[in-house]
Amino acid sequence: MITALWFVLRLAIFTAAVIWFLQDPGALTILWRGYQIETSVAFFVLAFAVFLLLWTWMHRFFLAVVRFPQTMRRLRAQRALERGYKSLTSGFVAIAAGDGPAARKASATTQKLIPDVPLTLLLSAQSAHLDGDAPRARRLFTDLLDHEEASFLGLRGLLAEKLKDGDTAGALVLMRQAEEKQPKRRWVLRNLMDLELRQKNWERALLLVPRLKKAGLLQAEKAASYKTALYLVQGQEAARAKDIPAANRAIYKAYRLLPDFVPAAVAWARALLAAGNRNNAEKTIMQAYVAQPHPQIISVWMDLYRDAKGVNAYDRPAAQKKWAEKLARLRPDHQESRKILQGVPAQSQFWVCQNCHDAQHDWTPVCARCQEFNTSVWQAPFATASSLAALPLVDAEWIGPPV
Ligand SMILES: [Zn+2]
Repeated sequence: MITALWFVLRLAIFTAAVIWFLQDPGALTILWRGYQIETSVAFFVLAFAVFLLLWTWMHRFFLAVVRFPQTMRRLRAQRALERGYKSLTSGFVAIAAGDGPAARKASATTQKLIPDVPLTLLLSAQSAHLDGDAPRARRLFTDLLDHEEASFLGLRGLLAEKLKDGDTAGALVLMRQAEEKQPKRRWVLRNLMDLELRQKNWERALLLVPRLKKAGLLQAEKAASYKTALYLVQGQEAARAKDIPAANRAIYKAYRLLPDFVPAAVAWARALLAAGNRNNAEKTIMQAYVAQPHPQIISVWMDLYRDAKGVNAYDRPAAQKKWAEKLARLRPDHQESRKILQGVPAQSQFWVCQNCHDAQHDWTPVCARCQEFNTSVWQAPFATASSLAALPLVDAEWIGPPV
């Protein structure tokens, strides 16, 4: 609209000027070196305008000729850029498809076309990683660290290499660097937690729990379960190191956090018993049984009896039964209680790892077989495959190929 108005305005001015000159052509005399040129002002203005127009065209033509090589270079660079990005894309597609030779070819082409782009470096590194050329991949990923915006990708690639080599300690060092760069990334938090657990850095893992919770990676219930398991493993380690006060402190923290969690209640009752605090041990067991009638709670209860009388309760069946019934009456309707009251032997259940299905009599924070953390669940070990599949695996998700 504005352009059209402007055109109309210009046309009006031009027309007005032409009319004005036609009405009053005037006369112009030029004297130069003995020549005399007589003409009208209108003609002179017209001739001058034509001259200006010609001059502009010639100037443009001259510039185009002078800048021709430069223009060609720019066009070539533009085409190289377009082809480079196309080959970069096909390279990453080949990586995702696991097609090594295609990735290698695309990587070489991209390297020629757009060598200074960090993504080109990433493609080459990924291609080397796919080919199993670890030293080259490592070198290229390390080069990526120099690029401010792509250094995170470099770290991620180096991490994948370390994990492939089974170097957990080295991977943890890199993961902590990644954490400094991107402390809120879910990928960083999840893998950092996994590595800290693998390296048995319980204190650091404890500090990570609230951060994972905040990032939505652990629900409140799961976060409490993780913390309890971490306190319990600290308690176990302190006990092994004969540091009983530290062990008791850690176990108490676990018990206070989840008093109904059977392993926490069992550990706290046993700690009280070891400290000679029989009354509180008894009270702890009774409370735990009310909340969760569990065979292992009953087992600690029977140990209490043995300690009280200084003899093994199992030596005197009648006395043993009476002592067991005292506990059973707290939850008379529960199936475990009914078994005690009716003298039915308890069905054998175990703590079964939800990752590798290893069965253990006692709850352990770290699976003895697969080393996974906090995966034990109380169940019959010969559960059918389908019922096992229905159980949620604990954070089985692990670092995939970095993209
Ligand atoms: Zn396991």
